[in-house]
Amino acid sequence: MPTDNRQTSMQYDDNLTAKLPSFVTHLECAFTGERHEADQVHNLSRAGKPLLVRYDLAGVRKALSKDKVAARPPDLWRYRELLPVRRPEDIVSLGEFVTPIVRMPRLAAKLGGDEILVKDEGRLPTGSFKARGLVMAVSMAKALGIKHMAMPTNGNAGAALAAYATRAGIKTTIFCPEDTPEVNVSEIALQGATVYRVNGLIDDCGKIVGEGKAKVGWFDTSTLKEPYRIEGKKTMGLELAEQLGWQVPDVIFYPTGGGTGLIGMWKAFAELEAIGFIGKKRPRMIAVQASGCAPMVKAFEAGEEHAPRWENAHTIASGIRVPQAIGDFLILRAVRESGGFAIAVPDDTITAALDEMAREEGLLLCPEGAATYAAYKQSLADGRVKRTDQVVLFNCASGLKYPLPPVHRTLDRHKPIDFAKL
Ligand SMILES: *Cc1c(COP(=O)(O)O)cnc(C)c1O
Repeated sequence: MPTDNRQTSMQYDDNLTAKLPSFVTHLECAFTGERHEADQVHNLSRAGKPLLVRYDLAGVRKALSKDKVAARPPDLWRYRELLPVRRPEDIVSLGEFVTPIVRMPRLAAKLGGDEILVKDEGRLPTGSFKARGLVMAVSMAKALGIKHMAMPTNGNAGAALAAYATRAGIKTTIFCPEDTPEVNVSEIALQGATVYRVNGLIDDCGKIVGEGKAKVGWFDTSTLKEPYRIEGKKTMGLELAEQLGWQVPDVIFYPTGGGTGLIGMWKAFAELEAIGFIGKKRPRMIAVQASGCAPMVKAFEAGEEHAPRWENAHTIASGIRVPQAIGDFLILRAVRESGGFAIAVPDDTITAALDEMAREEGLLLCPEGAATYAAYKQSLADGRVKRTDQVVLFNCASGLKYPLPPVHRTLDRHKPIDFAKL
């Protein structure tokens, strides 16, 4: 007879099936603070700004302990009490495992710095951290009975939406700029969405989604126009703190497009402090952008709270080619409150950084991830980050999703081989 050991050993899917209390109280306009009801379909707040999910954190504090979290399977659903999905049957999962933190000892020694840690998000389903946001958005869409989701995307978000929505039986229509990496367009289509290449940038695609919402009732899943992607991205902060022994690092370099991850992590740290898991210390949040599209850097340096559209945006780091972000004020606030800054790096240093890490440490970054390493080096050089700082760089997608440099070396096996020269 098999013994029932459910009480003593964890099952791989416990986080997905356990009945756990839910602590969402309401949603709040991030700009005006106005209260909006939970458990209803929402896009932006009545003031036209992003909505943030609020929880009964005193309740979470009583219900959850570090030991309880530690005993659960290692995926992002281990933080269910701090997530918006109320019923386990609404969870749409493809296996969102905890991503590793990889140390870069050679580069640290070369730069004379302390620890360089890379949180490698490329291991997530669909090969990017967009899975964190979209698994939450789609699970909530399922809970709220949404039937048709639409999205503008530079590629990775669309791939994650397509995958999860298909799994949930929700229709998806996706628009991406015409120069979106080929692999993204293909994976989006293959995973069951209808995808169009559009002759414009991501915000031009966003306008089409907005019109479709008005005309045929699509649900607009654009970055921050939907309240739950932030909650999914928040798990990066929860996970990072837990992995470092419920500590935060000194500095986080984050490749910033729409800013969901930066805003989400900043929210995570506040919630973790409120439930007594971490103290007052916060990492300095560094928003990394490409020189060819750096609206946040410009606004940060000008002391502004909003960042106007960046014209003629161009960079090889397509995930951060976002000319205008609706959450600009949230990004800039988090960066400033944390004592951080915003920094731009040119494409040639992004390519050099990608090359250096691959050749010296064997980790293939995506261009956006490479931008964070380039920005770290630039910040060390200009003294804005100290050599003794523990830094975390975010590699947000698998380097394999991007066009790679061709290799021309060949070998003719029918001719004599001069092995000494190989
Ligand atoms: C979306 C994306 C980003 C930017 O993330 P945000 O949280 O939206 O700022 C960075 N890198 C990659 C690879 C992405 O797909």
